[in-house]
Amino acid sequence: MKKVIIVLFIALAWSCNTPDSETDPLPNIPKDPDNEVLRIPVVVHVMHNGEEYGVGPNLSNERIIRQIEILNEDFRRREGTRGFNDHPEGADAHIEFVLASTDPQGNPTSGIVRRQFELDELPSNIPNLEFERYAFFSYWGSSDYINIWTAPYPNDYTNIILGQATGPDTDLPGDKLFQKPLTGGAEGIVINWAHFGESDIEGGRNLGRTLTHEMGHYLGLLHTWGARDCEANDYCEDTPAVNEPVTSSEPYIGCDGEEVMIGNYMNYTSDEVMNIFTKDQVSRMRYVLRNSPRRVSLLNSEGL
Ligand SMILES: [Zn+2]
Repeated sequence: MKKVIIVLFIALAWSCNTPDSETDPLPNIPKDPDNEVLRIPVVVHVMHNGEEYGVGPNLSNERIIRQIEILNEDFRRREGTRGFNDHPEGADAHIEFVLASTDPQGNPTSGIVRRQFELDELPSNIPNLEFERYAFFSYWGSSDYINIWTAPYPNDYTNIILGQATGPDTDLPGDKLFQKPLTGGAEGIVINWAHFGESDIEGGRNLGRTLTHEMGHYLGLLHTWGARDCEANDYCEDTPAVNEPVTSSEPYIGCDGEEVMIGNYMNYTSDEVMNIFTKDQVSRMRYVLRNSPRRVSLLNSEGL
């Protein structure tokens, strides 16, 4: 018997926004002038409840390091890994993520911070947003680091809440669909610890692709269905248009009778199906990294 699992993501808010399809034609995304490899420092804040090292949410260094390796396999479309594809629209993003080697005070670091906390310690003036709550306990400036928090959700959140990310400030179309940080507030990526890295949990989200997906949002990608509109979906011409969330790991048809790209990282498909960012998606991410506040500065971070 096949187990049916309902997967809900906290991700992008789209329902309250009007698609700007009338004013924005499908864009010509500016192409990056070169394929220079862009290296970006990340910090992983392991939020936990006092579990021993390697137990539950207090994830081991090995699992964290392997997760960052998976992220790079996917973004570099690395041959011999799950992140490889030979699709004609598939692209190597030439973006690599590195655990920070220098912390904000200039001291050497592993790029992994462990923080035991109690939610009752939160002052009442902290906004009720996951990013703000975790940042109160552990945060490095987003101009120099991408903050990734692993959230110590209880087991019954597994396969229900996977992750969420704040989006960049950009003049690319679809910008209004991003979940934006509060003005001057915390930004980063929150991942349910159960879906961080590789594990043997059931439900198809156990190969580390939740972070690949959320990193796509952080660098300016929308879900392939965007505003759930065949004309205004993800503003990438090389991802077949679709106007509803893509959760199926079986081939199916989207807008215009075209087969949906089920392997795209910006779907809700299972981890083992995902293996592609397209050329237009890569162009959007590189444009954000070259132009957006608190993204462009990552390229010259002291954290590297
Ligand atoms: Zn998403």
